[in-house]
Amino acid sequence: MPKMIDLRSDTVTRPTDGMRRAIATAEVGDDVFREDPTTRALEERVADLLGKEAGLFVPSGTMGNQLAVATLTRPGDEVIIGEGAHVYWYESGAGAALSGVQFASAGSGGLFRGDDVRLAMKPRAYYCARTSLVCVENTHNRAGGRIFPGAWVDEIAAVCAQEGLPMHLDGARLWNASVATGQTPAELARQFVTVSVCFSKGLGAPAGSVLAGPTELIERAVRFRKMWGGGMRQVGLLAAGAAYALEHNLGWLEHDHEHAALIAAGLLSLGTCEVTPPETNIVHVRFHKPVAQQVATAALELGIQVSIPDADRIRMVTHLDVNKIDAERARSVMQAVIAREASE
Ligand SMILES: *Cc1c(COP(=O)(O)O)cnc(C)c1O
Repeated sequence: MPKMIDLRSDTVTRPTDGMRRAIATAEVGDDVFREDPTTRALEERVADLLGKEAGLFVPSGTMGNQLAVATLTRPGDEVIIGEGAHVYWYESGAGAALSGVQFASAGSGGLFRGDDVRLAMKPRAYYCARTSLVCVENTHNRAGGRIFPGAWVDEIAAVCAQEGLPMHLDGARLWNASVATGQTPAELARQFVTVSVCFSKGLGAPAGSVLAGPTELIERAVRFRKMWGGGMRQVGLLAAGAAYALEHNLGWLEHDHEHAALIAAGLLSLGTCEVTPPETNIVHVRFHKPVAQQVATAALELGIQVSIPDADRIRMVTHLDVNKIDAERARSVMQAVIAREASE
């Protein structure tokens, strides 16, 4: 049996020996006292990379996003998001539960423009929810790793400036957007008050995210982080994995994008399914019938794991533990399986 190729997500990567050594030898202290040197160094480095004043290490991207929501809104407020936004869709209802906010989606398919923000905004009347925050996701996960067009971010920023709305960037996958566009993370984050980034996706660290933004806001976020149980003690062990990932794994993302393109091209050539050409490392395939489960089961028997976002759709994500040979094998197995299970 050849090795299992797990394309369900780029979160499934396991730390390499080099990363494990960096973790084992990290200098640590008590981070609830803010005395962990490795964590503090990572926070500063990431804040710098993102062009922000301060950073805060948190256990997950979910906590990073939700800290931004908590610090930039009040209960009863409304947050504008793109369709299928992670902050709304995949965070267990945290916006409602922890910050008392509701969400309104702008545009369609995850991306939106300046005019869409105006359409989604509620009138400034006491009987309407107060629109108080706009969240942008780059790259957009549920939309298939799509890159948010810079010109649209500029439009949104112009409307937000006029309306006095802060902007938060869910940049869990910002590294992919940066590698694909050639723009630095700071350039991509310029218009935003706060940004969250993940180390546990394409970068291959076991856990951890950073929320970056103005010092005053980050100081308030530290309080919520403790309140929500995210204050950790010798967490430099995790921060060391994240620092190692920044140092060694950023360059690999380009290969992930090549491998996603290679798989997508192979499936597109079948002509029996719809394949959106991937902009980064996520491949979405839509069938003309609800056969996603059958396709996934057949693929699993041949050593390829995929995920099933909808009854007629599968999703494959390339990552650090998938090399070119694996990607080629995934392509030929999926070609065979789809030809058998999903033809008309
Ligand atoms: C993965 C991801 C997150 C955070 O997920 P966690 O599992 O909480 O770390 C947030 N936003 C996007 C766009 C993501 O892809």
